Amino acid sequence: MFCLGIEGTAHTLGIGIIDENGKILADVRKVYSPPLGKGIIPNEAAKHHEKNKEIVLKEALNQVNLEIDEIDGIAYSAGPGLPPCLSSVSNFANKLAKKYKKKLIPVNHMLAHVEIGKLVTKARDPIVVYVSGGNTMILGLVENKYRVFGETLDIPLGNALDVVAREMGLPMPGGPQLDELAKKGKFVNLPYIVKGMDLSFSGIVTACIKKLKEGVKKEDIAFSLEEVCFSMLTEVTERALAHTGKNEVLLVGGVAASKILQEKMERMCKERGARVFYLPQEYARDNGVMIAWVGMLFLKSKKIPKIERRFRARWRIEEVEIPWV
Ligand code: AMP
Ligand code: MG
Repeated sequence: MFCLGIEGTAHTLGIGIIDENGKILADVRKVYSPPLGKGIIPNEAAKHHEKNKEIVLKEALNQVNLEIDEIDGIAYSAGPGLPPCLSSVSNFANKLAKKYKKKLIPVNHMLAHVEIGKLVTKARDPIVVYVSGGNTMILGLVENKYRVFGETLDIPLGNALDVVAREMGLPMPGGPQLDELAKKGKFVNLPYIVKGMDLSFSGIVTACIKKLKEGVKKEDIAFSLEEVCFSMLTEVTERALAHTGKNEVLLVGGVAASKILQEKMERMCKERGARVFYLPQEYARDNGVMIAWVGMLFLKSKKIPKIERRFRARWRIEEVEIPWV
């Protein structure tokens, strides 16, 4: 069996093809880059996807030497994401499925990040810490749904790091730069904000900017910012482990590349007899393979999810029923 997956929730248009054993057969990506110094412009990103969809599809099929007739299902990222991008990708998937009489599988983008992480790292039943430029969530499978144990109440952690780094005049993305600076820093006091199982970063960012203006050394701010934010994240992750009795942690998303975060999580997990898994950056980024893999999991379980509309810009992961547990 083969499943083709189309990702296009934001900047990346990706098409991947995977077989029923999780062997990755094709992976083509084209990334829209916004004008210098600007954020993503949704309509421009959608135009990028429209312009490139046929090219990316052709390249993906060429990589495996398959005809589209030999594919069993067409999966696509149906949300959450930017509406113009979701509209473009869902229409494309819909047309392909109709034209070639294939099963059409709407896939939740967050779920795809989690499942590709499990496939690549071989983690079995982890607490997933998803920390990227756009998301901060602590997730775990309970019965047949991924529950959100904790999440950010305001800005995502990667975004918080980038805002502080930008104030320091560091090049983007800021996370790796802060990681470097932090090695030479010492601790200055910053607010530590955990509310129940949720996290808040915007007050910490404001405090960092204030300290920067008062002349506190960049190194000290970098060190303290990471120390505080990563400790908050580790605290909530530990409680999710304790609550569920799970013994694996899977780190996904761009911020998971931080050595300082990895060491903190490792120390906590060692004390609990748990294991930490890291997703290589290649698969932490948005890609079509992760969509194809979730499509394949649905195909194999013979339960294709239905959504009322073609896409849902605010689709939460805990709304998806997981039939493969
Ligand atoms: P993503 O949205 O998953 O592409 O992740 C991008 C985010 O990861 C940006 O906010 C980066 O600053 C952050 N990031 C990347 N590498 C590191 C690192 N080594 N340490 C901390 N943050 C990082
Ligand atoms: Mg993503």
